[in-house]
Amino acid sequence: MKIELGGKVALVTGASRGIGRAAAAALARAGAAVVVNYRRSSEAALELGRSLSEEGCTVETFKADVSSPDEIEALFGFVEKRFAGLDILVNNAGVIKDTLLAAMRLREWDAVAETNLRGPFLCTRRAVEMMMPRGGGKIINISSVAAVRGGRGQTNYAAAKGGLVAFTRAAAVELAPKNIQINAVLPGMIVTDMSARVRKRAGDRLVEAIPAGRFGEPDDVAGLIVFLASGHADYITGQAVAVDGGMSVA
Ligand code: NAP
Repeated sequence: MKIELGGKVALVTGASRGIGRAAAAALARAGAAVVVNYRRSSEAALELGRSLSEEGCTVETFKADVSSPDEIEALFGFVEKRFAGLDILVNNAGVIKDTLLAAMRLREWDAVAETNLRGPFLCTRRAVEMMMPRGGGKIINISSVAAVRGGRGQTNYAAAKGGLVAFTRAAAVELAPKNIQINAVLPGMIVTDMSARVRKRAGDRLVEAIPAGRFGEPDDVAGLIVFLASGHADYITGQAVAVDGGMSVA
């Protein structure tokens, strides 16, 4: 099955590093014109843009904090001006602020909710506006196995990622009649900067809890994102699909 996204316009939030970076590259290599959003890592984002352009892909980069309504307005304004529409949104930008519940400060709760939940709401609302005149679109929300599996120090993150799955289901019902499919992807333990500390601290023990016997790579997640962004997934909506080597079912 070859996935062909020529003529499509995709926006990936948090695409300077990790899973978002792999997703942006995979979408661009499948033929989509891609907007790489990031918050701080300008050099990494620009380098991704340069290297994909050298491969012949159409890529733009845009700095915006997904939790800021003004910056989201500027980001979508840019997409509209540059590409006159949007077909694929990947709500990938995310942060962790792991702290035991009893010691969790309000700012650690809010920071996680703002990027991981408010961001996808702001982006999805704006994306839907741009997708409707084009007759449809695809939205892929990057949640986490933390949405379905408890973990110490992750009440803020689990609530945000669980909320994102619930958001996905409710939005799917509203958006299906508009031919917009929205699904959630639940990565397990993927080798990125975000998981570096926990992998370093408890690597061997964590691998033992993964039936596949290894951590995931960003490309393991990107493959599913590209599939969900394609016409092969036209009849799939409101779903939450884990990419975790069996971690959440063990
Ligand atoms: P990562 O390596 O830490 O990269 C995070 C990306 O998000 C970076 O590009 C960062 O931009 C961007 N970002 C963070 N806050 C942002 C904001 N407010 N606005 C715009 N961009 C923002 O993380 P990752 O591991 O690739 O995670 C990607 C997604 O997968 C997240 O939603 C995460 O929760 C989820 N996930 C990851 C794992 C895992 O094991 N890695 C597991 C389950 C779920 P800058 O570079 O500019 O800071």
